[in-house]
Amino acid sequence: MTETAARINLLDFDEKGLRAFFESIGERSFRAQQLLKWIYHQGVTDFSLMTNLGLDLRRKLQQLATIEPPRILGEQQSVDGTTKWLMGFGGGNAVETVFIPEAGRGTLCISSQVGCALNCTFCSTGAQGFSRNLTTGEIIGQVWQAARALGHERNGRRHITNVVLMGMGEPLLNFDAVAPALSLLRDDLGFGLAARRVTLSTAGLVPGIERLRETIDVALAVSLHAPEDRLRETLVPLNRKYPIAELMRSCRDYVSGKHKRTVTFEYTLIDGVNDHPDHARQLVKLLRRLPSKLNLIPFNPFPGTRYRCSPEERIREFQSIVMAGGLIATVRKTRGGDIDAACGQLIGRVLDRTRRSQRIRELQMEAHIR
Ligand code: SAH
Repeated sequence: MTETAARINLLDFDEKGLRAFFESIGERSFRAQQLLKWIYHQGVTDFSLMTNLGLDLRRKLQQLATIEPPRILGEQQSVDGTTKWLMGFGGGNAVETVFIPEAGRGTLCISSQVGCALNCTFCSTGAQGFSRNLTTGEIIGQVWQAARALGHERNGRRHITNVVLMGMGEPLLNFDAVAPALSLLRDDLGFGLAARRVTLSTAGLVPGIERLRETIDVALAVSLHAPEDRLRETLVPLNRKYPIAELMRSCRDYVSGKHKRTVTFEYTLIDGVNDHPDHARQLVKLLRRLPSKLNLIPFNPFPGTRYRCSPEERIREFQSIVMAGGLIATVRKTRGGDIDAACGQLIGRVLDRTRRSQRIRELQMEAHIR
């Protein structure tokens, strides 16, 4: 093992974890606050610049610890202002992180795993298979790097107003690393974002939703994509384990209780698959008693997929049916399509440990040849 590998990456800790770390090395726990301010407010990762820490402590930290964000391996700009970075973690693994500027807000979409184990049939990340979970430092480090790359080393918060865990991976299957990252996003000593400005998106892992509710206050997004179990199973295989009724129950629990929490349902519209007016009517029945929003996402194609995007008129018709039924529904504008940065197009570099990606690569090759 190299010296660096043996050192502890302090990006892996939220405030609670960092306090415990300082105590474990015989230091006072208030040092955690000083360190967090250096990292997240000043963007400083070099211990020797942390002048309020005292020379001895700085030396000790240099020996024991590092502050190591992911490396930016590539950056692409879309004509619409969207930026996509390839962030590397060594060992050949990399994920994609996307910044989407809009009037009055800037949303950063981050990844929680290298690849994804869920194999949703319409998602290109799923098609690549799964390599590993990201650590807390690798998750929050994407935000740290993006804030810096956006040019505000001293106050990234002015650019990034919202963070969504909607990149690669299923965040609730990596709960132990994701939770401290959420806490750093919320914490004033970290990025100081309000609860409704941090969104975790899940394919519907019911026990994870329950754990999240007990752990931290953030906005929840649920990838629904179908109003009934038979169809949903073909799109989101996880539905076999956690069918819609159970999922709805956990969403209802999530929004009830003392916090004023919200849930958004994501529904990717796929031509001839889940975009019939009957599906829209079923969706109204399913969601009308649950305080929620519906986000309709036009399907983004990727090489090798058998699905197509619903035609514009059908998307409008779907939206007007659900709205007439009393739901609040928006159609997500596709952003960054020219740089493959749209929903479901993130691929990164996944050292697939399943066989799935091999099959997909063959299909992609065929698509290129044709
Ligand atoms: N695993 C989490 C987060 C990642 S996906 C989840 O399932 O929610 C983020 C969103 O993009 C999900 O709603 C997902 O279903 C959607 N998505 C995936 N592939 C897509 C595609 N090809 N076109 C449009 N949306 C897609």
